[in-house]
Amino acid sequence: MTFVITQNCCTDASCIPVCPVDCIRPVPNGTAAPMLYIDPNTCVDCGACMAECPVGAIYHEDELPAGQRRFLDINAAYFDKTALKVRDTQAKPAPRPLERGALRVAIVGSGPAACYAAAELVHTPGVEVHLFDRLPTPFGLIRSGVAPDHQATKQIVSVFEPVLASDRVSCHFNVEVGRDVTHAELTEHHDAVIYAVGASRSRDLGIPGEHLAGHHAVADFVAWYNGHPDHAHHEFDFGTSRVVIIGNGNVALDAARVLVSDTETLAQTDIADHSLRALAASAVQEVVLLARRGAAHGAFSVGELIALGELPGVDVVVRGELGERPDDLDGALKYDLITEYAMRPRTPGNRVVALVFSAPPLELVGTENVEGVRLETGIIETGLVFRSIGYRGAAIDGVPFDEAEGRVPNDEGRVVDAGEPLPGVYVAGWIKRGPQGVIGTNRTCAQQTVGHLMEDFAAGKLRRRSDDDISELLTRRGVQAVDWAGWLAIDAAERARGAAAARPRAKFVEVGELVGAARI
Ligand code: SF4
Repeated sequence: MTFVITQNCCTDASCIPVCPVDCIRPVPNGTAAPMLYIDPNTCVDCGACMAECPVGAIYHEDELPAGQRRFLDINAAYFDKTALKVRDTQAKPAPRPLERGALRVAIVGSGPAACYAAAELVHTPGVEVHLFDRLPTPFGLIRSGVAPDHQATKQIVSVFEPVLASDRVSCHFNVEVGRDVTHAELTEHHDAVIYAVGASRSRDLGIPGEHLAGHHAVADFVAWYNGHPDHAHHEFDFGTSRVVIIGNGNVALDAARVLVSDTETLAQTDIADHSLRALAASAVQEVVLLARRGAAHGAFSVGELIALGELPGVDVVVRGELGERPDDLDGALKYDLITEYAMRPRTPGNRVVALVFSAPPLELVGTENVEGVRLETGIIETGLVFRSIGYRGAAIDGVPFDEAEGRVPNDEGRVVDAGEPLPGVYVAGWIKRGPQGVIGTNRTCAQQTVGHLMEDFAAGKLRRRSDDDISELLTRRGVQAVDWAGWLAIDAAERARGAAAARPRAKFVEVGELVGAARI
């Protein structure tokens, strides 16, 4: 008997250290592993990993939900290709305690990379962290990026909550660097600043017709249905029967699922109320996902592809050239799933998600509004197009920025300016390494950055110029900062609003509402 890791795996790797026989692989090392796997021949069936997994992705093989059963074979197949090797599991020595406040670090952002960085910092007794976010709410893309039908993934916040609640972490939400406080002021009041601000700008398509109404970045749609205050007022025309999404990564699949899911299902999630109303009146029957290349190169993960194929009331159809079946496990799994989907019979009346391969878009056609997407093989008619081809970071005032790469130039997290490290300034997450990886990828990324920060501190390279608490400066300026207790008040109010309709929460989507709820 064995336990099995399934679709929801966040690669956070909380499970690895608790396994008594060390049979979970790959051990994250900074590269973006699609998921982790359990070796069924070594697992001793103890269940420790299941108890530790923050997103509920691990099941006993006898208790696998119907839609997840194929992960039994997927876990085993990983070890058929990559035999389990004994590794050195000696625990790292505990960090030497510092005098309280001897090291004070500002972290800008409160998404996974920021939270993992804070966790790593407070692991050293005495270190103080000040965490800033421009929104009144924490957790970044966990709140505003993870799809509402993936509630289990959002449970990763249970790893972060004890960290942000620590008496050595001060939260300053609703505080924007560049508006309420400057980079120079952060460096004055802290020994080091870590920017973990993500990459929120969408890449452009670079084809004619991008300016047409009805063409949007998928990130705007995702933030809209997740109730991000900056995006709550967007309007999308769901009067079209077909939506085209250019790109086929996990974000594209999320958007497709939301567009074709029945609204009774969505109504049980924390989707924004305005989105639920708009989607309930939607005429969309088909979502077409356009991929430049073949099936083996799909940007989606195997887990998300399986979840798409399990969606009730939805047929997944496949068109275009699939290309060659590759040798690597991940690519071969994708290829095999796609070919399996291609042979499925259609169900009359079902909505459709069409995966179209080897179909680069050449032009968005239309006069004022988009009316179609031109491919080499013809035009796909549509009134709504989302591009989902990746993200770029935005420049931070006072910090070097590489416009071509869309991220802050850095050497393993140390920000560099003209090739030289900028003392006391660091990055973690997408603004450091670009928009790649899943939630857990940020853990090793943040650990690397904090490791270098601690080396620099030990070498005497970090020194703040002011011991004053930054809160006093914010108060003098009249900034309505929200602290951890304020977030707990927002959280309780949203959960109470949702409970009446048996939903996990009903989100506030205006900054004023959020700040008001924080003051209750
Ligand atoms: Fe390891 Fe126990 Fe999980 Fe099996 S059930 S993978 S032995 S922790």
